[in-house]
Amino acid sequence: MTPLIGVLALQGDVREHTEALVASGADVLPVRREAELDRVDGLVIPGGESTTMSRLLGVFDLYDPLVGRLRDGLPAYGSCAGMIMLASTILDTRPDARHLDALDVTVRRNAFGRQVESFETDLDFVGITDVPGTDPMRAVFIRAPWVESVGQGVDVLATVPDGPAAGRVVAVRQQNVLATSFHPEVTGDHRVHRFFVDMVAEA
Ligand code: GLN
Repeated sequence: MTPLIGVLALQGDVREHTEALVASGADVLPVRREAELDRVDGLVIPGGESTTMSRLLGVFDLYDPLVGRLRDGLPAYGSCAGMIMLASTILDTRPDARHLDALDVTVRRNAFGRQVESFETDLDFVGITDVPGTDPMRAVFIRAPWVESVGQGVDVLATVPDGPAAGRVVAVRQQNVLATSFHPEVTGDHRVHRFFVDMVAEA
């Protein structure tokens, strides 16, 4: 059965995630209302601005329903601001920003520094690029967070390979929840989306 995957459509690069999910074999529903959230088998939380997204979740009455579905095991994938939203602890955010507490990690917002608005690198991704004969993954970072520490049961899937941030954790998975600091929806490489669609199909 084709999974129906929601893209949280309050803000951010909804269209790019939708295209990547469709190319990965999923049906896609933009999610702005609780009734839409109720229907989906998995949810993508796109990049954007986490403090704005936090506010809009309240405005659209989605915060409590989303926390509830995540607690019940809804598979979720957050990229960049989406990673921040899913995390349990956020460093360098606004005191009034709320997050979803679905992933046992501490993330630091805008962690690569003000000088590093955006950069790209090739990296290895556990479960994707470790298949013999596959290319490394091009990762695009835009005012990105990194994962400062992970709790028990969180798998590190990718780290920055070199440069001043070498070794920093930029992709993680805990059971049904996947998060990347970078934006695979902008590169045309759909392997992370396919990985998530497979997670949803297996859930
Ligand atoms: N810096 C943004 C935030 O704090 C995230 C940037 C992004 O999603 N590209 O939410």
